[in-house]
Amino acid sequence: MKKLYGVIGDPIGHSMSPDMHNDSFSALQIDAHYQPFHIKSEDLKTAVAGMKAIGLSGFNVTVPHKTAIMPLLDEIDPLAQAIGAVNTVVREENRFIGYNTDGEGFVRGLNEEYGSSVLDKKIAIIGAGGAARAIYYTLSQQGSIRVDIANRTPEKAEELKNRCPYPVETVLLSLEELEKQLGHYDILIQTTSIGMSPKVSETPISVANIRPDAFVSDIIYNPAETMIMKEAKKQGARVQNGLKMFVYQGALAFEKWTGVLPDPKRMQKIVEDKLGGTSC
Ligand code: NAP
Repeated sequence: MKKLYGVIGDPIGHSMSPDMHNDSFSALQIDAHYQPFHIKSEDLKTAVAGMKAIGLSGFNVTVPHKTAIMPLLDEIDPLAQAIGAVNTVVREENRFIGYNTDGEGFVRGLNEEYGSSVLDKKIAIIGAGGAARAIYYTLSQQGSIRVDIANRTPEKAEELKNRCPYPVETVLLSLEELEKQLGHYDILIQTTSIGMSPKVSETPISVANIRPDAFVSDIIYNPAETMIMKEAKKQGARVQNGLKMFVYQGALAFEKWTGVLPDPKRMQKIVEDKLGGTSC
């Protein structure tokens, strides 16, 4: 019988996950379908029970349900528990198990573009929201040595650091301090929403002091090149956007559901075509 997967969120109409996953099911000749479900917060509990009852084999979870869904699941993977958010649910018999593939998706995409492991590099993260949490905890879990954080609201960065269950050396900086000390870092990870519409001409910090051999990874992928990426390129730095993070979080979810890692290049092409162009 055809297996059913999906993604739940509110809104959900813009999601590129259905095209990405359905293409991979078809390319791998897996008899399955991936469907978007528009679920409002007040219906989340009923929706999860309904998905279990109708036999959904797994699903992705997006805004605003990534944290709210956690008490509704039967088990949470330790990394997802630490991050405090679930983006992938796997069905095992009659149990729903929650995972978070955002951080691992980011690290895979970063390693690929950087050309080697980043764990021994000196890394700075701008931002301390949900995406930064997934990235920081995953880097720490995988053995990163030094990951500093700069956020507009210092208390949020402090909370992120204090709650990290994995050993990592972290200095908390203001955005101004990071600007001045940028020359110390090999890799800068931009996780704020600055650079997305309507703030396409803004950057969260000036990158005038970045080293020409540094690497800037912005997790935004629409627009394909944010202002901070443009400015960093002018200083000679290499850059990447958030497309690989998005593709790999999806590929890793697919692998958890089916045991097969789909072709990330094929997935990326689907998303690029949907976005109407290529990206970095
Ligand atoms: P979030 O939890 O709302 O966090 C937003 C972060 O941006 C916070 O650190 C916030 O600082 C900072 N920020 C917002 N406006 C700011 C401003 N004007 N000046 C300075 N800092 C500002 O959001 P999120 O879920 O982490 O998502 C962040 C971005 O990542 C979004 O653009 C999202 O689309 C993107 N994203 C991409 C992927 C991917 O697959 N590529 C996955 C997830 C998210 P404060 O703490 O001071 O408010």
